[in-house]
Order: sequence, then structure tokens, then C-alpha cells
Amino acid sequence: MRVTPSSLVPRRSAVVAIAAAVGLALTGCTIPASSDSSAAASSAPGDPADSPTASPTPTPTAEQPLIGKTVYLDPGHGGPIGDEMWQMVPDGHGGTVQCQTEGAITNAGLREESFTLQTSQLLAADLKRLGAEVIVSRGDDSGGGACVDQRIEAANQAGADAFISLHADAGPEFSYGFYIDYPTAVTGDPVEQQSADLALSIRDAMVAVELIPSTYAGEEGLQANGTMAELGLARVPAVVVQMANMGNGIEGALLADPSVRKGYSKSLSAGIVDFLTGLAAPTG
Ligand SMILES: [Zn+2]
Repeated sequence: MRVTPSSLVPRRSAVVAIAAAVGLALTGCTIPASSDSSAAASSAPGDPADSPTASPTPTPTAEQPLIGKTVYLDPGHGGPIGDEMWQMVPDGHGGTVQCQTEGAITNAGLREESFTLQTSQLLAADLKRLGAEVIVSRGDDSGGGACVDQRIEAANQAGADAFISLHADAGPEFSYGFYIDYPTAVTGDPVEQQSADLALSIRDAMVAVELIPSTYAGEEGLQANGTMAELGLARVPAVVVQMANMGNGIEGALLADPSVRKGYSKSLSAGIVDFLTGLAAPTG
């Protein structure tokens, strides 16, 4: 089902938008409390009671549509960041960018790297439950983590089916909403269109839970980006999701609510499933 953002967002506030996500998290299906690496478990040999006809090559099922798919999740930034953040690395667009940058921070002191890490952990659990192999760029906040170019290169090397970098923006104080960066088309390589399709699938899934596309960046929640290394160096479908504007006091405050993080992760998961199972209807 296609959702037209403009039909859903007649000047509703960010509060209403994120409250809708909270409602989804509270009333929708829940993420299992413990993840048991279901992708691996589903193909484990020697379990005749559960899978008497198990195939050596697991195939997707209705319950686990992402079996056989690899998703690389990058919780943006890291912390605390040291001197290494100042080194310059290739951006894939013919220039260089800083290895790493400081993340945004809300008025209440919630740091972007914490928000993206916590959301990525929820998302990883959900994707594993759906059968995907999930690789993450960092699993804690103990250090700055890898440079931005190394993160996308790891996804390239893994042959990931999708690379999703999670961020929250430091935008204008009175603006709000999410937007998704995807690589500016340069070479005509099919992966460029796949990245745009991935962005579209995630955008539609976020709009479907009434999250509001950005009021200050991109167009209807989508933005072609020709500067980020994570996108310029991508050889797999790649997007950077700016989930919210931490510069907005109201939106920023809501991000501290665990239910809000769950709402974001559920919508991101839905968009990723749509893209990876070909259920999306990309129009370019
Ligand atoms: Zn960021």
C-alpha cells in the first residue's frame, strides 16, 4: 500500500507525530525480550524434532522473510571521541571528510550516539527475529568507533543487502521531523537506484506510523546526498536515516521515551522488510 505523505500530515505537530509512534509501540506487536540469533538457529543441524526436512540452504518463510539477508546497522557517531576524529578520510565524492564528528544533543542532554545505539539494538533484535543476519558498526558507547569510511567499507566487504546508518539531526530549533539521505546518482550503477528504493521503502514505513517528514530538509522525507562518505563509498544499497531533529526541544524530549525508540525501530524494520522482500513499489 502506498502512502502519500501530504495526505497524512496536514500540519500536525511533532508531538502528535511521535505520540503516534508511541501508540504503535504500546499497542502493536512486541519485540521478544530475548533474541536467540534465530537466523542461525533456524538452520542448525541435528534438531529432528523441529525440522525433519531441514534444507542446508534455509529459505525465507512467512515468519522469517529475511532469512538469507544481511543487514548492516550503523548507529551513528560514538563516544567519547578522541583525537582520531580529526583525521581526514575519503568521502567517495572526490574529497575528504572528518573521520568522525560529535553527535547532536537534546536540551535535556540526551546524546545522539546513545539514542542511535539504543534504537539500533531494538532494530537488530527485530531483524534477527525476522531471520536476517545483522552486523553492527558498534555495540556500545565505550569509544568513538570506526571512521565513517570504514563503516561503509565493512558493509561493502560483508556484501550486505542493506546498509542503514541511524542518526538524529541538530537542525533548526523550530523545525522537526525525519529525513532519509540516499546517494546522489552519479555512475548509473543499479545500486544507486537500489539505495533510492531503500530510502523510499523506509520513508513510507515511517509515514505509515505517522512520523512526520522533515519540515526543513529534503522533500517529503527524502534527500539525495552528495557529501557523506557513508553514501559516496557505498557499493551496497545504503541510506542515512535522520530520525528526528534533536535541535527541537519538544521532539528532542520525546526521544528519551523507550516507547518512542521502539516505534522508530518497528517502522524502520517494516521499511527494511519491504525493500528486501521486494514488496515495495518504488517509483524512483
Ligand atoms: Zn549524526
